Amino acid sequence: MSNVTPMMAQYLEIKAQYPDALLFYRMGDFYEMFFDDAVSAAEALDIALTKRGKHLDQDIPMCGVPVHSAEGYLLTLIRKGFRVAVCEQMESPEEAKKRGSKSVVRRDVVRLVTPGTLTEESLLEARRHNYLAAFVTVRDASALAWADISTGEFHVMPLAPVRLGPELARLAPSEVIVSEAQEADMAETVSDSGASLTALGRAAFDSQGAEKRLCTLFGVGSLEAFGQFTRPEISAMGAIVEYLEITQKGKLPLLRPPVREAEARVMQIDAATRRNLEITHSMNGGRTGSLLSAVDRTLTAGGARLLERRLSSPSRVLEVVQARLEAVQFAHDETRLSADLRSALRKVPDLDRALSRLGLDRGGPRDLTAIRNGLEQAAGIAQTLPDEMPELLMQAKQSLIGHDELLDLLDQALIAEPPLLVRDGGFIAPGYDAELDEMRQLRDEGRGVIAAMQSQYQELTGIASLKVKHNNVLGYFVEVTATHADKMLSAPLNESFKHRQTTANQVRFTTVDLSEMETRILNAGGRAIEIEKRLYDSLKHEVLERAAEVAQAARALAEIDLTTALADLARGEAWGRPVVDDSRMLEIEGGRHPVVEQSLRQQGGGPFIANDCALGDASDIWLLTGPNMAGKSTFLRQNALIALLAQAGSFVPARHAHIGMVSQLFSRVGASDDLARGRSTFMVEMVETAAILNQADDKALVILDEIGRGTATYDGLSIAWATLEHLHEVNRCRALFATHYHELTQLAGKLDRVDNATVAVREYEGDVIFLHEVRKGAADRSYGVQVAKLAGLPESVVARARVVLDALEQGEREGAAKPKALIDDLPLFAAAPAPAPAKPAQSSGVEDRLREIRPDDLTPREALQALYDLREML
Ligand code: ADP
Repeated sequence: MSNVTPMMAQYLEIKAQYPDALLFYRMGDFYEMFFDDAVSAAEALDIALTKRGKHLDQDIPMCGVPVHSAEGYLLTLIRKGFRVAVCEQMESPEEAKKRGSKSVVRRDVVRLVTPGTLTEESLLEARRHNYLAAFVTVRDASALAWADISTGEFHVMPLAPVRLGPELARLAPSEVIVSEAQEADMAETVSDSGASLTALGRAAFDSQGAEKRLCTLFGVGSLEAFGQFTRPEISAMGAIVEYLEITQKGKLPLLRPPVREAEARVMQIDAATRRNLEITHSMNGGRTGSLLSAVDRTLTAGGARLLERRLSSPSRVLEVVQARLEAVQFAHDETRLSADLRSALRKVPDLDRALSRLGLDRGGPRDLTAIRNGLEQAAGIAQTLPDEMPELLMQAKQSLIGHDELLDLLDQALIAEPPLLVRDGGFIAPGYDAELDEMRQLRDEGRGVIAAMQSQYQELTGIASLKVKHNNVLGYFVEVTATHADKMLSAPLNESFKHRQTTANQVRFTTVDLSEMETRILNAGGRAIEIEKRLYDSLKHEVLERAAEVAQAARALAEIDLTTALADLARGEAWGRPVVDDSRMLEIEGGRHPVVEQSLRQQGGGPFIANDCALGDASDIWLLTGPNMAGKSTFLRQNALIALLAQAGSFVPARHAHIGMVSQLFSRVGASDDLARGRSTFMVEMVETAAILNQADDKALVILDEIGRGTATYDGLSIAWATLEHLHEVNRCRALFATHYHELTQLAGKLDRVDNATVAVREYEGDVIFLHEVRKGAADRSYGVQVAKLAGLPESVVARARVVLDALEQGEREGAAKPKALIDDLPLFAAAPAPAPAKPAQSSGVEDRLREIRPDDLTPREALQALYDLREML
């Protein structure tokens, strides 16, 4: 390898340690990438790919990004699924030279940037969590741990592998760690959740090593200090800590002690239901149009993250729900107090993330002022809060006080609006440190002295245009125009003014006095920055010493923010306090769909028609019929959302709601397209329905919208029929079931806990008018033809459809068994355009494929698939 330059040798050595990451190799003001890294990065970032030198006689592809704008590029790369190893220069070129003439600057990777380990403000969404999760199976038990290093949250729970999908859907982590052995098994579940998958070797999961790592991290002798953990739980938490050590290169973030969660404490909602109900994301993936965005009135980033957490994991514990509702009620009634609190909350910065950056030594002066400003607001808010309040708010208030010492210190030490970087200095307040003040004075005076020297030199030389200037090569120097050169270069002036440089128009000189002054200014300035750095470190230390209390205050502020935000929402939207208990009721009077209602209002549409729902008392299941577009889906979803909101601790869009605690929430829509996963839509529908029938318990709430729609009429009807019976007889859960199969309405007579309901429409001169009113009873007909007309189908088609429909309905009434005969009898399509010429006959692919099929060799599933394939070929 004699023709490899020393720098390339160093590059290759470092790169070999990070084969899976792009290596950002620091060279002066740039991060440069070489070889394949350069090719992928140039494409992903849309930047120029160039060459730099040769390696083994081949050109080396290269691209680079400036260090000062590197964060933006990092973000793009992470979003596109890359991980990036950031390699810095660990010494200056001068230091390298001292070591030996040929040495390259020492470099090392200081951080591995991955989706789950971000902390920078610009790389994170302020109002969302960024979780890193680890899933582990030890023998036949498994566990999931997750942490947000940007806020310090750390959780763990026992979790069966089949429950991993739903939990990932709830938490939406950006990265999931598994062991190499489990990688293949978990890949699909993890990628379905949208997270990136990271596999670690066995050692990272060893539970003994894990216990040690955790004890060291939290400075305890035994993990029992935080509760009883199982082996898989310890191993999952240990894997997270190990991965953080790898990516942060030994700098561990400020994780809070782990909190053990139990599945039984939260409402279970699987991924399909979350998608369907558009809880935190709308169908198109964004936040707009979701329940979260419709109800979010929080003012702080911490409050917004708490709301997302609550909506993703509504509680199942009655006391928890009651306590939250109690707090919202209080804020709702105390209008003045709420308004005062909210104006203070507007000034609360993101304490959690500032703290986390300080902890990882990635912070700056503004993180210190964020802590100061946050604690200042906390103290103010604590004073505003009365002495008697619901328990939840009392606890929060308690966490807001007692930070005076830290607050005073930061207040005295820092100026109001400091610069971003420590190395720029200028953030410590005057009067805080005597030596710093002295150095600053010297530095600033020095600048004044220089100005005085300029006038002195002007007088001495008689050149009024003489200037004292500064640059990095000469330092301070005297500059005159070329016309005065001769005078300056001859005696007596040439004795004190030493000629240094002649440019096209100017001549430059230095003097001994100027040089001396320069040294003094530089020294004072440099010294001042040094002092500021030291002070920054000690302030940071003081903050981190109290990290736990500060984090506690941050959580309390988030709780107060969320409580007042929900109260504000309830007041503004006229929402009511739900009654939540352990019954099996789902009784809602005047319920509305929060998102549809808002969007109708924004579009200036008609008012939203409120509707009632009553399950749990006389009936458990409502079978809802009515034409398309009548409002069936809206009604179904609004009732699910009302239950969800209530258990999240919010008031609800209803005049009155009585919610018996819901254990599991299921929602399915017939035959939604899921082509991306390559399953037939009907297959997906059946898999999802099976999941409900197998899991729903008697406290579950199930919402089924047009199940069976994805297949032929009689198949669909039979499946819908059997599903409904199963829910009634076996699951015994509460359910709302919308269908366009009118035949199903007969079931209400057969099954004692099933009732019919319909969304009313009125017919007027052949058109249908949607009333959006849900009433007891079955729909009389489907109005499909009228709806088609509304949709703008050509008049001739609508007229023809009416004729066909009449004939069919007449046939049905007269008991004609063969619709085909009836259709043969129909008069011809009056307005039919000339039919397109038939395609010349040829042996089609369908026929070929049919010939290949051997029905006896197929499983039922393969047969179904073959049928789909054939249809696809038409
Ligand atoms: P379906 O499921 O019966 O086809 P949807 O629930 O999708 O009907 O409702 C169709 C549209 O009707 C909605 O997009 C909404 O604009 C409107 N709508 C539904 N329910 C109501 C209501 N209660 N009040 C006012 N408009 C409604």
